[in-house]
Amino acid sequence: MTDKETHAGYDCFIGEYRQPLSGGCERTDMDPITHGALAYLLYVGYVMGRVIISKSTQTHHLPATWAFVPLAIGSQFPDLIDKPLAYWGVLVSGRSLAHSAFSLLLIGALLNSVTWIQSRDTVSRLPTRLRASIPTAFVIGYAGHLLGDAAYGLLSGEFFSVRFLVYPVSALSRSSGDELAPWVRVINLYRDPSTVIHVEIVAAALIVFVGLRVWKYSRKRADKLN
Ligand SMILES: [Zn+2]
Repeated sequence: MTDKETHAGYDCFIGEYRQPLSGGCERTDMDPITHGALAYLLYVGYVMGRVIISKSTQTHHLPATWAFVPLAIGSQFPDLIDKPLAYWGVLVSGRSLAHSAFSLLLIGALLNSVTWIQSRDTVSRLPTRLRASIPTAFVIGYAGHLLGDAAYGLLSGEFFSVRFLVYPVSALSRSSGDELAPWVRVINLYRDPSTVIHVEIVAAALIVFVGLRVWKYSRKRADKLN
């Protein structure tokens, strides 16, 4: 099994590219690093929205560092489930069960329920802020992944290509990319990082991350001096 196919003279990695009308290869999938960066930007947007609504200038309202763990896991979760299961033949497609919006809603509701039960437990081992951050960060990371995978189809008006969002209502077919082992797929993706990483999203996430750290540091220094 080859991991490439040729379109109009171009070698395209199967499952990550499509042949546009003009010929050649175009990215349709998002790589793990960009998924993580997009999730971070969405989470910062959510937290900033809350800060603006509460009119707070306190640095503890910034994205909590410990929220990065559930956020990172959520941002990769659909691929961690669907890609291996499709490769082993359990699922029909590498974008199916965990790439469905129904799964997102179900898992989000489940996590919220578990957190709510935990919050009633007076001897909970989890810090309150961590407990409160887990479901939100995970769900934002998860939703960001689906958004990233569906972006190309939604923006180009090819709604049929994003039918995985309503799986199992809409039937899916197996793609040749599902024959690739997930680890081979990732290695193939990063053979030439410049062609797969969405630099604008990753750069924006880095700038926001550094900017927030600098702002937090300067606020703390100002508070100490006062
Ligand atoms: Zn995906």
